[in-house]
Amino acid sequence: MADPDLSLGEFGYAGDDAVVPFGVEALDARGRAVQLGPMLDKILSRHDYPEPVARLLAEMIVMTVLLGTSLKFDGKFIAQTQTDGPVDLLVVDFTTPSSVRAYARFDEAKLAAAIESGETSSEALLGVGVMALTVDQGAYMQRYQGIVELNGASIEEVAEGYFRQSEQIPTAIKLAVARIARRGERGFVESWRAGGLIAQFLPDSPERMRMPDLPGGDAPEGADEGEGMFEPDDAWIEVRALVDTIGASELADPEIGVERLLFRLFHERGVRVFTPHPVDDECSCSRDRIKDVLSNFSATEITESIEDGRIEVTCEFCGEAYEFDPEEFAKGAGGGDAEGEPGEG
Ligand SMILES: [Zn+2]
Repeated sequence: MADPDLSLGEFGYAGDDAVVPFGVEALDARGRAVQLGPMLDKILSRHDYPEPVARLLAEMIVMTVLLGTSLKFDGKFIAQTQTDGPVDLLVVDFTTPSSVRAYARFDEAKLAAAIESGETSSEALLGVGVMALTVDQGAYMQRYQGIVELNGASIEEVAEGYFRQSEQIPTAIKLAVARIARRGERGFVESWRAGGLIAQFLPDSPERMRMPDLPGGDAPEGADEGEGMFEPDDAWIEVRALVDTIGASELADPEIGVERLLFRLFHERGVRVFTPHPVDDECSCSRDRIKDVLSNFSATEITESIEDGRIEVTCEFCGEAYEFDPEEFAKGAGGGDAEGEPGEG
C-alpha cells in the first residue's frame, strides 16, 4: 500500500462500488468481483457499530452484493441471519438495479463479554442459527428462499453451501473486510472497505457438471467438506486453487482493484471482464410505506405507539425518522372500534 490515494477508477477501471462480471472461458468459469469503498463506509459509519459488528455486517454486505447482482429480473435479494450469539440479527438487502441497505442487531452485554475474551470471529459473534437467502423477483416469479445452517461456519462457507444446496453449482467465494487510513485534510481518516469474489463452474456440457448421487435424499447437514459432493473436474479444481490463493489484504486493496486482481489470478488462461454494475447505499423506506404498516396496527397498538402526542418511527436501515399524528390513524377506522383486528380484508 504505497500510495493509498491511487484510485483505479481514474484509469478506466471500474473502481470502488461496482461489481465486475468476468469469465475464464478456458476453465468454464464465470463470476463477479467487487471492491466496496464509499458505499460501505457510508452504511457502517451511519450506524456507528462497534468494530467487530461492523466487520461482520460488511462481510454480509459484500456477499449480498455479489449474489444480488446476479438477479436476471427486477427484484430483491435479501440475506438475513438469525442466531443465538452476541450479534443475533443481520439483514442486508439488495434491490435492483443498485440499492443496498443493511443493519445489525446485537446484545451489548454479550458483545462486550465476547470482545473481552477475544472471541470476535464471525463464527463466535453469530453463534448457532440460520441464514436465510431470499430471492423475490416480483409478481412474475416465484419467491425463492434458501435456508443455510450457521453453526461455526464462516459467511464464505455458508454462501458456498447455499449454492450447493439450492443450485448445485460448484461455487467458490472469497470475502475480505478492511479498515484503512487515508491522509485527509485533517490528518488520517479511517474508512471501511471490503472486497469479494465469486467464481462458478458452468461448463456447456452438462455431463461435466454431473453430480454423484447425494446420500439419502437432501443435502447433508452442514455439508462438511462440500467439494466431495461434486465430481471433481480438472478445470474446476484449477479455478478453486487459484481463488484460494487470494489473500484477504489484496482482495480489499484499493491499489490492486478488481481488474488487476482478476488478471493476477487468471491471466495464464485468459480472463475477460464485462460492463461493471454499480451499487449504491440507498434505502427503500418512505413515509407512505411506513404509514401503510401503521395502518394495519390495531387501535390499541396505535395508542401504545404514541409518545408525547405523536408517533415516531425510525427506519432501522437508514436511520431516517418519520413522524405521524395519531389522528391520521384514528380516522377511517369506522366508528373507533378499539378491538379492531389489524389487516382485515
Ligand atoms: Zn430507510
